[in-house]
Amino acid sequence: MQTTKLCKGVRLTEFFMPTLRNAPSDAKIVSHQLMLRAGMIRQESSGIYSWLPLGYRILTKISEIISQEQNKIGACEMLMPTIQSADLWKKSGRYDDYGQEMLRINDRHNQEMLFGPTNEEMITDIFANFAQSYKDLPKNIFQIQWKFRDEIRPRFGVMRGREFLMKDGYGFAIDEEQHKKIYNKIFVSYLRTFARLGVKAIPMQADTGPIGGKLSHEFIILADTGESEIFCDKEVIDLDILQEKIDYRGDLEPIVNKWTEKYASTDEMFVEQEWAKVPDTNKIATRGIEVGHIFYFGTKYSEPLGLKVADKDGSLKPLHMGSYGIGVSRVFAGIIEACHDEKGIVFPSSVAPFDVGLVNVSLKDENCTKTCDEYYETLQNNDIEVAYDDRDIGAGAKFSDMELIGLPWVIVVGKKSIEKGLVELKNRTTGQTQDLSFEQAINIVKGK
Ligand code: ATP
Ligand code: MG
Repeated sequence: MQTTKLCKGVRLTEFFMPTLRNAPSDAKIVSHQLMLRAGMIRQESSGIYSWLPLGYRILTKISEIISQEQNKIGACEMLMPTIQSADLWKKSGRYDDYGQEMLRINDRHNQEMLFGPTNEEMITDIFANFAQSYKDLPKNIFQIQWKFRDEIRPRFGVMRGREFLMKDGYGFAIDEEQHKKIYNKIFVSYLRTFARLGVKAIPMQADTGPIGGKLSHEFIILADTGESEIFCDKEVIDLDILQEKIDYRGDLEPIVNKWTEKYASTDEMFVEQEWAKVPDTNKIATRGIEVGHIFYFGTKYSEPLGLKVADKDGSLKPLHMGSYGIGVSRVFAGIIEACHDEKGIVFPSSVAPFDVGLVNVSLKDENCTKTCDEYYETLQNNDIEVAYDDRDIGAGAKFSDMELIGLPWVIVVGKKSIEKGLVELKNRTTGQTQDLSFEQAINIVKGK
């Protein structure tokens, strides 16, 4: 996928990608180890990370896929500040409820501020300023913005950070029924988003927690290292949303029902009698990573914050709202938990930092280097994103870096292969290599 803001190619002599042979011993799970080893992140303090160029590139791709799917359902993207005034949170009653997870800050005028852990209060206040009647509804608005939660136990790298990137969306409707339509769109768009990111995230009945509310689903990637305990019917796992034809203007209820009619629940919502109805051979009780969470919370914020609009009959009604989150930085780690082998990451092509690695193994050979330089240009001209390893290091180190960072394909060019007019094309998933002409290699990488 071509992301407009990202360059098509990098030379590793210029790119900043500090890979490590071994992960620091305090990295306990494989995604954290691999992200550190691949030079994607660096810890700055507990639960707070810098995103180095390679990690930032992937984070950008993930964010772009999320935005694209939201745009398809008519959600509009905006950006709110990270620092908020405490006033709104006092009105909603959550200033005290949020407790020590909220990072509180006093400015030079001694105004109470906070680093936003989420944005329900602010978006409600913004919307309240403009919405006047049922004609302004429904609306679905989102942002992709940094959040801060002073987690008691930040761990597993960016999986449970203190500063983390979240897509947070908010839906506004005149009543419960209208909200359900937004909820269904979000539900299906999340299934598609995660499928496009190359992972299976299963919607499960969830508790609404301190945000409060009635209807809620968590989207969970099955993984032994996950922090959530889940119970689900195997048949839900076998469903495939990318096979569905979807018309977002049509009725999505039947699609949502397909995913919700079978049992799938987090431990907080576990119901023994329901679980007993699942055939024993279908029962999956395991762990998972919560990468998304959607809520309907009715008028919980619109009532205290005074958000009312005129309905058709002129009467003032409090808005019905929902909020919909995706842990953007957490899903990054979740993808790696699901997609790796003993050599490193095996990225799904949609989020791989580059489509192909170009490895020059005969750097000292003038002809080989000249050919590689040409190939580097040609690949980019063919809309293929390329990481060109032109570093003066051993071939073994080059190959292991390419495997570690998980590019789907590697093209190896050396003095001998050039003499035969061939390159070696290596597939990261299967490990298979083929000797081909450069043009044939391009076609395969492009999926022709
Ligand atoms: P958790 O139960 O894991 O603490 P949460 O229920 O508090 O998550 P939400 O408030 O629903 O999370 O936030 C939306 C999404 O943001 C979550 O589904 C998750 O993917 C992500 N998220 C929440 N907390 C963190 C964190 N500390 N680090 C990284 N991602 C997070
Ligand atoms: Mg939490």
